[in-house]
Amino acid sequence: MLPPQPIQLLDLRAQHAPIQPELDAAVRTTFHEAAFIQGGAVQQFAAELGQYVGGAHVVPCANGTDALQLALMSLGLPRGTEILVPAFTYVATWEAAAVLGLVPVPVDVAPDTYNLDPAAVAAAVTSRTGAILAVHLFGQCADLEVLRLLANQHNVPLLEDNAQAIGATFTFSTGQVWAAGTVGEVGTTSFFPSKNLGGFGDGGALFTRDAARAHTLRQLANHGQTRKYHHELIGLNSRLDTLQAALLRVKLPYLDAWTAARQHIATQYDAALLGHPSLRPPGRDPRSTHVFHQYTVQGPDLPGQREQLQQYLGAHGIPSAVYYPLPNHLQPAYAYLGHQLGEFPVAERLSRTVLSLPMHPMLTMAQVAYICQVLQAWA
Ligand SMILES: *Cc1c(COP(=O)(O)O)cnc(C)c1O
Repeated sequence: MLPPQPIQLLDLRAQHAPIQPELDAAVRTTFHEAAFIQGGAVQQFAAELGQYVGGAHVVPCANGTDALQLALMSLGLPRGTEILVPAFTYVATWEAAAVLGLVPVPVDVAPDTYNLDPAAVAAAVTSRTGAILAVHLFGQCADLEVLRLLANQHNVPLLEDNAQAIGATFTFSTGQVWAAGTVGEVGTTSFFPSKNLGGFGDGGALFTRDAARAHTLRQLANHGQTRKYHHELIGLNSRLDTLQAALLRVKLPYLDAWTAARQHIATQYDAALLGHPSLRPPGRDPRSTHVFHQYTVQGPDLPGQREQLQQYLGAHGIPSAVYYPLPNHLQPAYAYLGHQLGEFPVAERLSRTVLSLPMHPMLTMAQVAYICQVLQAWA
């Protein structure tokens, strides 16, 4: 069997083709105005994105990793303070804490949703904890209800790494619905090109509902100044380029339609994997919408199985990827923290068994049906 048309993990060219005239116009306008740093589009985009997430303050910055660092900087924590982070996440979540001299303290994740296990978080909070940094991995919210409660109980801030779940929402037991990234004291996101709202280069943003904190974050992202050459804080040079903001303004209105397309594809994958002998679809938390930055399945925890599956899919013209093959506590850079193999069994097992399937809004239904067929033929 061969695919109806070549299948890609991600197809930005196809995504941009229908909006090319709008993108071109945004580039032309930006070049014409020549205000490449802090041009008007940056604040316009921030306002529009703030509205999109239900009214939070949005502070644009240079990338999602800086956003995490700025969020932590705004807490003013002394060196050595512990930051609870998922054991299974992209390295940036840990890195932001580590570069500030804070201590990333890994907490294991739930085996079905891949997100922070709230019971493990409760067990890991100590008097040294300075923040809980949740990640909404692959596009689904972590357990914001329990994490918010724990953060309140222990009087520590909750931060949300929302690089992968922009547009997701979480419904609390009160019935209130909140946008991912706006429940914590600070949320962060990334506009890395492959993210659900991707720019044309690096970009990122912070979310907060607190106007004073938004002011601090804005200062921190711009050399600690409000007035040029007057520095109240030690900050970073971390700004979103005007060009990126202008292009992201074009893309934002399409995000919901792209998300719906991802969700539709995920539904087909779910159906195809129902009762599958060896592949497990991602678990859904009914309280969260899932924006499927990735559709990530789990295979059997047997040596060589994942490689065989990848080869099988590849032979059928279906690319796949492993996010993430080595958990952060076993990375050489974090050996200084002294963690051992076996300490975070769920994260370790996931790093051996997960596989992400093609997921982007431009996949055709014929391609998805073909992928489903190939998956079903795998024992
Ligand atoms: C992409 C990503 C980041 C970092 O974003 P950059 O813009 O690449 O710096 C942080 N956390 C998670 C979970 C991510 O997926």
